[in-house]
Amino acid sequence: MAKKEKQIFVVGHKNPDTDSVASAIAYAELKTELGQKATPLIASGINQGTKLALETFGVKCPERAHLFDFPEYSVVLVDHNESGQWAEGIKVENVVEVIDHHRVGKDFSTEEPIFIRTEPVGATSTIIAKMYQENNKKPEIHVAGLLLSAILTDTLMLKSPTCTDEDEDMANWLNKRVKIDMEAHAKKIFAVKSDISSLSAKAIIIRDYKEFHFNHKTRVGIAMLETIAAGQALQRKEEFLGELRKLKKEENLDFMLFVISDIVNINGYALVPGKEEASVIEKLYKSKEKDGIIELAGVVSRKKQVVPPLEEYFSTHGRTKRD
Ligand code: MG
Ligand code: MG
Ligand code: MG
Repeated sequence: MAKKEKQIFVVGHKNPDTDSVASAIAYAELKTELGQKATPLIASGINQGTKLALETFGVKCPERAHLFDFPEYSVVLVDHNESGQWAEGIKVENVVEVIDHHRVGKDFSTEEPIFIRTEPVGATSTIIAKMYQENNKKPEIHVAGLLLSAILTDTLMLKSPTCTDEDEDMANWLNKRVKIDMEAHAKKIFAVKSDISSLSAKAIIIRDYKEFHFNHKTRVGIAMLETIAAGQALQRKEEFLGELRKLKKEENLDFMLFVISDIVNINGYALVPGKEEASVIEKLYKSKEKDGIIELAGVVSRKKQVVPPLEEYFSTHGRTKRD
C-alpha cells in the first residue's frame, strides 16, 4: 500500500489579524499550485477588519484549526513562530516550515531541520508576494486582494515604522492586478476595526493579544488596539483595566500590558494593570503614568517598539513571582 501522504496545513497565529489569514490562504494556494497540496486554517476567530477584507474579495474564511483530530499532519507556520502564539494542538515535530516577519523567539527550536524564512519587512504577506514572483507565478485576483489588504493593515497604510520599501513595492505590484484605491480600502478596514462599541472589554483586548515568554520564563501578555478613534477607546479605560487585572491572573502572567495605538496621529497609550507594569513602562519610555495611562510617544508597533525594550528589560531583570 502506498504511504498515505501527510496533510499539509498552513496556519497563522492565535487571535489572527488579516496578515495571518491572508498569508495562510495565499501560501496554501501557492504551495498547491507548485504541486504540494496545502490547506489554510485559522488558529481562532477572525476580527471585523479581516472579515471585511475576505468579503471584499469574495473569499471564504478558512476553517478553525482542529489539529488534535489528525494523527499525521505537517504544519507551516505563517506570521508567527513563538509557541505562545500557536494554534491549539500544534506539536513541534509537525512543524515543517515557518514564514514570518517577527523576531525568532527563544522558545522556538526544532529537532529536525526545517524550512525557515524570516525577513524584517512590514508583513508576512509581503514575503508571500515575493515568493509568487520568485516562482514566476501571479496570484489570482482574490488572493492578490487579500495579500494587499494584509500589507496595508500590517503596515498601517504603509506608515508604520515597520514598513519597508519592499512592502510598498509588493503592494503596488499586487495592486496592478487588484486595481483598487489602496488608501480608501485600508481606511474602510481600519474604520470597522475601530468600531468597538458592540464589543466587550475582554473581546477587544483578546482580539490582538500575544503572549511572549521572555528569558524562557517570564510570561508577558501584550494586547494592542490599532484605532482611528483612540479617544473613544480611552474612555473605556476603567473597563479595560479591570479586565486586564482579571486576564493577567487567569492566564498566569507575570506582566500584562494593553497598548492603544492612535494610527491617525501615530501615538501610543499604555494601560497598565499593576504597579510593576507602571514602573517598568514609565522607566522604559520615560513617561509618567496619569490615571492608569502612560503615553508612549510615537508607539504603534508591538514588534518594533514594545517587545524589544521589554525583552531587554527582562533579560537583565529576569525575576518572576515564580522564582
Ligand atoms: Mg500578525
Ligand atoms: Mg504580520
Ligand atoms: Mg499586526
